[in-house]
This record gives sequence, C-alpha cells and structure tokens, in this order.
Amino acid sequence: MSAATLTAAPAAPTAKQADKIALENNKLHKRLCRLVGQAIGDFNMIEEGDKVMVCLSGGKDSYALLDILMTLRERAPIHFDIVAVNLDQKQPNFPADILPTYLSNLGVAFHIENQDTYSIVKRLIPEGKTTCSLCSRLRRGILYRVADELGATKIALGHHRDDILETFFLNMFFGGKLKSMPAKLQSDDGRHIVIRPMAYVKEADSERYAEVKGFPIIPCDLCGSQENLQRKQIKNLMREWDKKFPGRVDSIFSALSNVAPSHLLDRELFSFTDIKADGVANPLGDIAFDEEPCAMPATFPGTIPLQAV
Ligand code: SF4
Repeated sequence: MSAATLTAAPAAPTAKQADKIALENNKLHKRLCRLVGQAIGDFNMIEEGDKVMVCLSGGKDSYALLDILMTLRERAPIHFDIVAVNLDQKQPNFPADILPTYLSNLGVAFHIENQDTYSIVKRLIPEGKTTCSLCSRLRRGILYRVADELGATKIALGHHRDDILETFFLNMFFGGKLKSMPAKLQSDDGRHIVIRPMAYVKEADSERYAEVKGFPIIPCDLCGSQENLQRKQIKNLMREWDKKFPGRVDSIFSALSNVAPSHLLDRELFSFTDIKADGVANPLGDIAFDEEPCAMPATFPGTIPLQAV
C-alpha cells in the first residue's frame, strides 16, 4: 500500500450528508441553549441587571459557556451584561494572543489578567508534588479580586454535568462524603455568587460543540502538572458505563436532584430523634419491611439491563 493511499483525505460529504450534519449541529446548538437556559432558571443563576463574569480558560467548556450565554442574552426577557475574563498565569508557551484575538472578533467585553502564578507555584511546591491545589487557590483569589474590580455580580464557570458527577464520585469514593459541585454557591469569602450554567450539559455535547464551532482551544497541560489520576479513573468508569449500560449515568445525575434525606443516615439533615408514631395512616408513607420498587425517574431516557446491574 502506498503512502498516498494511507494519507488519502476523507471524501467530501454529499449534499444530503451535509444537510444532515447541518441539522444535527443545529439540534446540538438548540439543546445546549435549552439546557443552559433550564439550569439558569432552575437555580435563578442570572437576574435583571447582573454583570456576569465568564471565566475563560481557553478550554472547550468555557468557550461553549461564553458562546451559549451570548446567544441567550439576545433572547432573554431580562437585561444582563457579560464580561469574559482570562487569567494568563504565565505558563511556559501560553499562546497569549489567541484569546484577545478571539474575543475582539466576537465583540464581547473582556479582560485579560496577567499574573505569574506559575512561578509562585514552581517556587513553593517541591518538584514532583502536585501543584494544582495551590495553583487553584491563587487563581480563585485573583478571580474574586478581578470580579470586584469589574463590578461583576456573578462569576460563571464552565463545569458541566460530567464534572459534577466525577466530583460526586470522588467525594464518595475518596472523601467519605455525599457531595458534588454546586450549580450555584456563595464564594468562600462571602462576597460573590459563583454559577455553573453548563451544569446540565453532557461533556460529549460540549466536545462536539467545540469541534463544530472551531474554538481555538488552548491545551490545559502547559503547566506540566499531571492529570488527576483519580478523576481520570472515574471519567473512564463513567464512559464505560455509558457504553455498556445506556441510561445509568443519566439516572445517577437525576438522583442528585432527587434526594430523600430521611432514607440516608445524616442526622444533621433529618431529625430521626424526633420521629413519633402519630397513629395517622399515610398511603404515601414509608414501607418498613417490603423492598421498595425502584421507579425510573420521569426524565429517564433509557433502561438499565437488570442482569447487568
Ligand atoms: S493543571 Fe496546572 S494550571 Fe491547572 S490547576 Fe493544576 S497546576 Fe494549575
């Protein structure tokens, strides 16, 4: 086989195939707008007069977040402003011109914050040790300050559904906590509201959207830090489940917004000590001895083969 055969370019799509691709891309855009809009509504993330600071790392998810928020702003019944912010941490080979060029062409207000956290981290953390925790702490403090300086009322991050699920499993497997990544929170300094409008978006959709839109992605390994291995394992586990048992990951995600504190063991969440038998029958009440049927959530899009559970 000749080299020419090996490197032959794929055939251009026919008109019919091109129409189909355009239709799929349009559906993807609509789906992202719907899911981001839904999360914003469910958690009251953006209100009239807000100035939303979108943190842009140069990764696919933050580009998608900015893009979708700009679309939604055009359609929203309320007025809000957007300012995109990138923190240039002075990592070696960071392509500093990509984001300013992209954002200028997009016509969105933006700010690039130059802070050499890379050198600080390298100086303080011994070679071979994980640098992420100090790096994120420094980044967080800088972004809070920038939000103050820009008068931003909300700080938007690009974490998606799979980040939320991975964090949930990380906390459960390694931290002994039933806890994930909040869709909306008050910052630890008590001064900011942080929102995650992509909370309902699947990573695969964000990935596909980045391809479709041709976002100029900046690689996230410039700092030379190793990827978090535990998170990587969990990501792989979820991908495997998704392939083998379609619907399982969706079901777990639904479970995060369908919690029964009385059926867990956290005495802070539910007052077990105050339970009394009041003699009043309740047909919807708890069944003590029978095993409860495992009802599928209303939004559950697939079924899990029981023999495989
Ligand atoms: S991967 Fe690098 S840039 Fe990202 S948090 Fe870790 S040390 Fe910082």
